[in-house]
This record gives sequence, C-alpha cells and structure tokens, in this order.
Amino acid sequence: MGILEGKRALIVGVASNKSIAWGVAQAMHREGAQLAFTYQGERLRSRVEDFAAELGSNITVPCDVASDAEIETVFERLGEHWANLDVLVHSVAFAPRESLQGSYMESVTREGFNVAHEISSYSFVALANAARALMQGRNGALLTLSYLGAVRTMPSYNVMGLAKASLEANVRYMAHDLGPEGIRVNGISAGPIRTLAASGVKDLRKFLEYVERTAPLRRNVTIEEVGNVAAFLCSDMASAVTGEITYCDCGFNILGMADV
Ligand code: NAD
Repeated sequence: MGILEGKRALIVGVASNKSIAWGVAQAMHREGAQLAFTYQGERLRSRVEDFAAELGSNITVPCDVASDAEIETVFERLGEHWANLDVLVHSVAFAPRESLQGSYMESVTREGFNVAHEISSYSFVALANAARALMQGRNGALLTLSYLGAVRTMPSYNVMGLAKASLEANVRYMAHDLGPEGIRVNGISAGPIRTLAASGVKDLRKFLEYVERTAPLRRNVTIEEVGNVAAFLCSDMASAVTGEITYCDCGFNILGMADV
C-alpha cells in the first residue's frame, strides 16, 4: 500500500515534463494519491490535461495566482469533484527576466520586487486560505518549493532569493496558524534543476556544473528525488513534521568551502 493511499492532492505548478511539480505528481500518484491539477492560462491547458490523464486524473482547473477570483474558483470547482482535500502542492515562482541577471543592486526594481514576492510567496498563503475549508478534519499537508538562494547569495538569483526568504518565513507562520487545525506546512529546498522557470536565471548552467563538481554526492538532484521527499512530507509518515524546510540537493547546502 502506498503512503498516500486515500489522500486527495491538488498540484499547482505543472508546466512541462521537466517541472518539479510533475516529479511530485508522479511520486504522489505512485504512492496512491488521487490528483487534481491547475494550469496557468489557456496556453498550458491541453498540455496539463494530458499530464493529468497520464496519472488517471480528469480534474484540471485554470489558476493564475495573480488573480484572487481564479484562486477562489479553483476550490469551488474542486468542491464539485471532491468533498475534501488532503494535500496542496505549491510549485510556483516568477520574477521578470531582467531581475534574474546582473547584480542584485543594479537589477532590482519596485515592480520586479513586488511581482517576485506576490507570485512566489504571497500565492502560497492565498491558496492555503482558499483551500482551508476543504482541508478541515483531514490531517492536511501543504508543501512549497524553495531554493538555497533564500539563505545564501547566489549569482543572478537576486530578488528571487528575497522572495524565497519570504516564502520560507511564510511556511513557518502558516505552520503556526494552521497547526491547531491539524494542517502541516513544509517546504523543500531543492538543488538546481533545468526547468522552464530555472532557465530564466542567467547563471543556471554554472549552478549545475558547480553542484556536480562539489556537492557531497557529486551530482545534481532529479525531479523524481524531489517528488519522493514531497510524497513523504505530505504523508502521515511525516505527521510530526511541520514548519520545516527540508533540503533535497545532494548535500550541497552543507558546504562552507568546496574542495576543488
Ligand atoms: P517550472 O517552470 O516547471 O514551474 C514553474 C511553475 O510556475 C509553472 O507551472 C508556471 O505555470 C507557474 N507559474 C508562474 N507564474 C504563475 C502564475 N502567475 N500563476 C500560476 N502559476 C504560475 O519550473 P520549476 O523549476 O519546476 O519551478 C517550480 C518551483 O520550484 C518554483 O517555486 C521554483 O522556484 C522552485 N525551485 C526550482 C528549482 C530549479 O532549479 N528548477 C530549484 C529550487 C526550487
């Protein structure tokens, strides 16, 4: 029996078969969860419908997290299929491309700062608030995806590092408030992976090469490995874990100075 047998999970953030959310969805499906998906705009609709069908799901709903109305509608539509929800996976981030190159001081703008924080951090608590009613009495679990740039400087990551720091604080505040309802909130800090979002960061290739050379495991992490940690954190196996950021990065985050 899978560790997510009998659970219903909403996956927010599948854009391609390279998406971390796709690795999470596959692992959760394998562990017995029923799945529903959102997609960002019509452009991604048929692609996400195909991904959902691959994992036995016919529940796909539009959600641009910049829109309060779309966030509300997601859970109304979900409620037509499911009486409750156990798991919400938030795998969403965005910052304008110009913010993710050059130095932080020179690339930061009011607009870039606001957009990065709204889409990459605020959206997590906004989705959680909208999901809350469906998650009552279920030992629910919320999960988001972060990156080491939240706590260390990284070339080109710039304002997204600040947004991830906000997201990690969001995990702790949400865990505090939702704990009395039995809802757990956690984050995974994944190592760099070549995805659509990551290709917006100018120095991605450098990140991948550096991790491969220096991480304790001497390689990069895969979306399947992140998916496995996600399945564990959202299962009852992790019933006492909340408010945590778990690194899934082949050990890279422990380094002080690399031995190269
Ligand atoms: P991805 O491009 O596959 O996924 C990003 C998702 O964000 C897409 O599905 C996109 O549709 C969605 N999104 C962006 N703006 C949105 C909006 N306004 N409304 C709704 N959805 C929106 O890339 P990914 O790397 O799988 O990113 C998923 C998460 O993982 C992000 O939070 C990212 O920061 C995080 N992460 C990625 C890496 C990496 O190296 N790839 C490492 C650590 C953490």
